[in-house]
Amino acid sequence: MTNATINLYDTAVTQLRDVGAALRLEPGIVELLSHCSRELTVSIPVRMDDGSLRTFTGHRMQHNAVRGPTKGGIRYHPAVTADEVRGLAMLMTWKCAVVDTPYGGAKGGITVDPKQLSRGELERLTRRYTYELGDFIGPDRDIPAPDVNTDGQVMAWMLDTYSVLHGVTTPAVVTGKPVHLGGTLGRIEATGRGVMIAAQEAARHAGLQTDGLRVVVQGMGNVGGIAARLMAAEGFVVVGMCDSKSGVHNPAGLDVAAVTAYQREHRALAGFPGAAAVTVAGLLELPCDVLVPAAVEGQITAANAPRIQARIVVEGANGPTTPDADLVLLDRGIMVVPDILANAGGVFVSYLEWVQDLQRFFWAEAEVNERLTQGMRQAFAAVAAAAAERNVTLRQAAMQLAVTRVVEAMTSRGLYP
Ligand code: NAD
Repeated sequence: MTNATINLYDTAVTQLRDVGAALRLEPGIVELLSHCSRELTVSIPVRMDDGSLRTFTGHRMQHNAVRGPTKGGIRYHPAVTADEVRGLAMLMTWKCAVVDTPYGGAKGGITVDPKQLSRGELERLTRRYTYELGDFIGPDRDIPAPDVNTDGQVMAWMLDTYSVLHGVTTPAVVTGKPVHLGGTLGRIEATGRGVMIAAQEAARHAGLQTDGLRVVVQGMGNVGGIAARLMAAEGFVVVGMCDSKSGVHNPAGLDVAAVTAYQREHRALAGFPGAAAVTVAGLLELPCDVLVPAAVEGQITAANAPRIQARIVVEGANGPTTPDADLVLLDRGIMVVPDILANAGGVFVSYLEWVQDLQRFFWAEAEVNERLTQGMRQAFAAVAAAAAERNVTLRQAAMQLAVTRVVEAMTSRGLYP
């Protein structure tokens, strides 16, 4: 979760102002984009299992809808604040634009520790939240998806509540739902697959053969675990992996499936045979060609950036590199594929899910994966071209490209009235 000392919204606005200055945008446009266009904060009363009544606070913030309906996840976490949701909504606008999906950005959240709730309480919380959101969300308006501590089941409850309230089953109101309710094949793997494709494109861009490139992956969850498996299948050699407690290293290559199975069984990596133990901090500094931080934010800092030995960093997580570390990596000639590009595979396949729902026609997994591959390749090529043309980093180029696309749409549409 977001470090409490960092205000995500302030960070997002600072980033936007930097881009605005680089693109010489009209100050009024930067000011307009600094705000969410619509914000809703709701009180959510829930009858608890013990008979008591508790009231939670939830938000849904829509940053910008100029390119299409807004899109973004919903997180349940005790540290959720309005500013965190605002900042994440703005980042979603850029992420959706960089992979050229016809969406603006949004984000939602409830300040709650879902691990303290029973399943029934979680369902009542979700349903009342959805009710309170009312027509703020909708398949042509704003489409939620899972985020931290929410999943396909939470999306199924949202889908059901929205559908009951509107008297018509509306699968396209959420994405990331179970396949049997109109979810798409390939969604679970999408972010990890996108990371793998981004790594392939980055290697090509750097003039490297992907076959045999050594990879270190931090995090073994939905993003890191799947990226490691798919990268190994594509000829990369995964030499290091870790969860939140410890890691393993084998310069000759790890059997990703065996490491994953061991971690699942023991809920830890300590004692994994045939590999050296390594700390989570030490893992980031292992010799490798590609480093994939895919756990949490703020992992590569000014303190450890001088010791990173990778040639390419592919940001599977959101915000794993601090801004001062970014400068160190740039200085050392290490290429960084930024989060808004590298981990956009999830939102891209959410888009494909929504398209299938609207058509009521579902595709084979191979088709989803093929479209994701094309989408990621095109996005990488566009960002790399912008970086070369403007002589900036991939991160600056991705942000500039995204903001340019949004501003272009705003300019063409003009201002009402
Ligand atoms: P997850 O909860 O499935 O997995 C997180 C993994 O990171 C776990 O293996 C955990 O043990 C490890 N971890 C946690 N804290 C750590 C620490 N301090 N140091 C090292 N490892 C640690 O989460 P996920 O869905 O894989 O998401 C990972 C990151 O990717 C997050 O930043 C998330 O916002 C981002 N992201 C996820 C998706 C998605 O589709 N899941 C999409 C875009 C971005």
